[in-house]
Amino acid sequence: MQIHVGLEYYYHHASTAGAASEYAQFSSHPLLPSVAFGFPPTDPHLCSLVRHQLFGWFRKRRLKKILAQPWPEKWDLHLNRNVRLCQKLSQNEIQALQDRTKIFVAEKNWEGLEGLDVTVEMKVTIAAQACMMLLGVDDFYFDNVKTILVFPDTFRREANDGVTFGAQHRSGEAWLGGPIVLSWRDALRGCRNEDDGSNVVIHEFAHALDGLDGFMGGNITFDDQPSHDQWDKVVDHGYQELVAAKKSGRRTLLDHYGATNKAEYFAVATETFFEQPGKLRKKHHDLYSLLVKYFKVNPMKWQ
Ligand SMILES: [Zn+2]
Repeated sequence: MQIHVGLEYYYHHASTAGAASEYAQFSSHPLLPSVAFGFPPTDPHLCSLVRHQLFGWFRKRRLKKILAQPWPEKWDLHLNRNVRLCQKLSQNEIQALQDRTKIFVAEKNWEGLEGLDVTVEMKVTIAAQACMMLLGVDDFYFDNVKTILVFPDTFRREANDGVTFGAQHRSGEAWLGGPIVLSWRDALRGCRNEDDGSNVVIHEFAHALDGLDGFMGGNITFDDQPSHDQWDKVVDHGYQELVAAKKSGRRTLLDHYGATNKAEYFAVATETFFEQPGKLRKKHHDLYSLLVKYFKVNPMKWQ
């Protein structure tokens, strides 16, 4: 079995300052609505406010330029062949996905490892798959993730994070305030199999969303407090149920890997939400409804 992720925990403990600054920088994005920048500004905050406004102005200008570029026709091939989930999107949604993908491809720092050259196909496939998760929100492109590291295949890690020990072969990792790491082979396989509930790109970017509040603990943020309270309750119950099922060897819709901790529960639930929405809604109705509220999309209509 390939392990998706696990490093985020001790990385978080080791680099709180870095994580906090990333958190402050992006704390106004649409999936974290309750955090503000402390308006009205007082003098000690003025410098950071000016910096923030300047940063926002440059960002806006940069993104406008990217959006003004036409969608390269050659990219359609990668989208159609590799990102199977987008086959049922409406014309407007395709347009929205193309815009988000253009920005994502241009804005991220892409690095190949073990001699891999990151090709346009790899960038477009990973970007479009990640941006499928953002169709319900405006003006957010996983801004908290600067770098995507791509291995040709699964990669070996020595793990000792309190949850997993020893050498592992991984298909992906998400680092709090740091890069997303992906095995291209596994990323492609996940994107081409759109309905098996397994998608390492969605999985790792779910961790990135989870980390927007400064901690990857499965605690996502909603527009309203009742939804937040309900999320705690639903996840507590669902997580315990999955832990019990894993212990007894009972098969479940959600992958048993979600029983590792609540961060993994959220990541696994997100994979199932996008790839098997009908099954998730049937078996875990409350969880499904909350994820519709969080992502502001209903993947049932893409079935
Ligand atoms: Zn994970």
